[in-house]
Amino acid sequence: MDRYDVVVVGAGAFGLGSAYHLARRGAGRIALVDSLPGPGQGNTGRSVGGFRKGLFTSELNRMLSESTVAFLADLQRSGVDLGMHSVGYLVLLNGPQLEANERAIRELVRRGNARLIDAGELKGLVPWMRLEFDGDEEAAILGLRNVEAALFSGQSGYLDVEKLVGYLHREVLDAGVEPRFNERVRRLRLGPVVSIGHPREPLAWQEKRVEALETDRGELRADVVVLATGAWINELLDPIGIDSHVKPKKRQVFSIEAKGGLRRFFEVEGFNGYSSLPMTFFPRGPYVVPRVRERVLWTGMSDDVGRPWGIDFSPEESFYLDNIYPTLSKVFPVLRDVRPTSMWAGCYSINTIDENPIAFRSMNLVVVTGGSGSGVMKFDAMSRVAASLALGEEEAVLYTGERLPVSWLGIRDRRAEPESFVF
Ligand SMILES: Cc1cc2nc3c(=O)[nH]c(=O)nc-3n(C[C@H](O)[C@H](O)[C@H](O)COP(=O)(O)OP(=O)(O)OC[C@H]3O[C@@H](n4cnc5c(N)ncnc54)[C@H](O)[C@@H]3O)c2cc1C
Repeated sequence: MDRYDVVVVGAGAFGLGSAYHLARRGAGRIALVDSLPGPGQGNTGRSVGGFRKGLFTSELNRMLSESTVAFLADLQRSGVDLGMHSVGYLVLLNGPQLEANERAIRELVRRGNARLIDAGELKGLVPWMRLEFDGDEEAAILGLRNVEAALFSGQSGYLDVEKLVGYLHREVLDAGVEPRFNERVRRLRLGPVVSIGHPREPLAWQEKRVEALETDRGELRADVVVLATGAWINELLDPIGIDSHVKPKKRQVFSIEAKGGLRRFFEVEGFNGYSSLPMTFFPRGPYVVPRVRERVLWTGMSDDVGRPWGIDFSPEESFYLDNIYPTLSKVFPVLRDVRPTSMWAGCYSINTIDENPIAFRSMNLVVVTGGSGSGVMKFDAMSRVAASLALGEEEAVLYTGERLPVSWLGIRDRRAEPESFVF
């Protein structure tokens, strides 16, 4: 049996980050456990790595993402290659969407975080993108309306998640964190804080703690356990009666080689220094990410009602053909008859209350999960919150110096106001 000050379960973005901050803050002997053979091989490694800078209206989202993106950008500037590409986020808006989001858009523009581009200017920048669908029956069936404008955030973009994982892994090893890969935690065993020697302890009236982590290689003990098992969180929490309010849901990414006419995605001037189309989003529809180094297009779309909850890592080409292709090929006719060359699926861990991440402490157990589709761009802030919870602090100090009450991320005193600009 091995004994630690802290055991972090899960070596994804949240677990690596938590171990990193705990080690930096001198939390003692720390183990980082993951059932997979290396770090970041769960959902972090399946991520698109997109980051939004200044494109959130909710205060909590703004703090979590902006401080994390500031950390990442400074790291990249200091010479650590994270593959960060600020190609920009371009959100295409039809008339009703423009109207429905008017206040949020005005605020984002007023703060200088984004620019509203009208259809005329957009046409001039990307003449091969189709913006008008009047009289097109198929487009009407798809619910595609004329694009009236686009919101452009030039400081947003994507990073290379593998590079981020590599960096964090090196940092935690240098800081003395002990990795334990290929080790699955099967069960969190509870025990009483003060034992009376009863054979069925802990009894309902006794104060409890996680006494041991039973793994497929033995048993671990720790003063504090940080559970960062993402979409798998309930496997260890349900048996001990703790609700994370998070459920897993499949999300898929399709990769298309940018050959022939598709090279145009990388011959667009006026948005960024890479001559690339920005990451382009259709609210509640598909998105496309031109990957500058690899010269491929990544595309995906979130489906909600109709897509079952559950862990599922099997990509379906039919999802691309039936759901993404029809809209994408209308707006980008160069994509007509083009099929993906590769695809993969991962699982969002979605907090079903407000879709923001969750972190709370119960006994000597800290839970950090619910990254949903923005866990990479919020990982540093969430990891600081997890470290603060583990150290018994009421506030986390973010990379930007802002102080964030950890209870805002919890369940009882949660302060996660709804995001008004969702796409
Ligand atoms: C397709 C897709 C696209 C995405 N795109 C973006 C994006 O563009 N931008 C963005 O910011 N975010 C994006 N995300 C979300 C982001 O990837 C996640 O929010 C983030 O990676 C979550 O990190 P995590 O550490 O919570 O989970 P994970 O990376 O899944 O880590 C959890 C780890 O726990 C381990 N584990 C689980 N159970 C056990 C156990 N019992 N014992 C031991 N180990 C265990 C797993 O093996 C895993 O490694 C995307 C996600 C997906 C799936």
